[in-house]
Amino acid sequence: MSPPLQLRFVTSAPDVASLPAATAEVAIVGRSNVGKSSLINALANRKKLALTSNTPGRTRMLNLYELEGGGSLVDLPGYGYAAVSGSTRSGWPKMIEGYLLNREALAMIMVLVDGEIGPTKLDVTMLDWARSSSLPHTVVATKQDKVKPSQRQRRQAELAAGCHLEVGDIVWVSAVKGTGILPLRGLVKLWLS
Ligand code: GDP
Repeated sequence: MSPPLQLRFVTSAPDVASLPAATAEVAIVGRSNVGKSSLINALANRKKLALTSNTPGRTRMLNLYELEGGGSLVDLPGYGYAAVSGSTRSGWPKMIEGYLLNREALAMIMVLVDGEIGPTKLDVTMLDWARSSSLPHTVVATKQDKVKPSQRQRRQAELAAGCHLEVGDIVWVSAVKGTGILPLRGLVKLWLS
């Protein structure tokens, strides 16, 4: 059994230096609209814990949630907005890179990839960068329900290949149907333990 994660929203911070200290932390990254907010809400079994993409302000901050029993979760800005805010050459804002390279408590990065459309160029850049920076990361493929059952096996193989990973390395979820949410809750607890 993996009951909902007891997450409590703590703060939104403009950079890693403004975040409170943490013991262990899981970060969530992905392009805008990949399903980050929906996934956080599904993990917590709450409807509006994480606000959806069009909430002004918070989507450009590091949003920190504390997990009852220890550890925290940080929701990073979606890559998509990089174009409108002094972005780095690699396509995501300095604050994302600053957080990922300087957060000592970072235990795991969940890199969200849209399961329906597969990894974008930016997703692959993020994965290559995490790999070359030796940062712990796990690919979570979202919106599994949008892939027809008859197509799933092929899509799983394609998505894994696109990420330069094995099929078994990818965690598939659907925030809408609840698929994969229980095991992912278990993984988050494990990463934070
Ligand atoms: P964010 O920008 O990454 O936080 O993405 P959101 O969580 O706001 O989701 C973006 C859009 O994708 C919304 O319209 C969601 O309803 C939709 N969405 C998110 N997760 C799922 C899913 O598991 N299945 C389906 N079918 N749609 C999803």
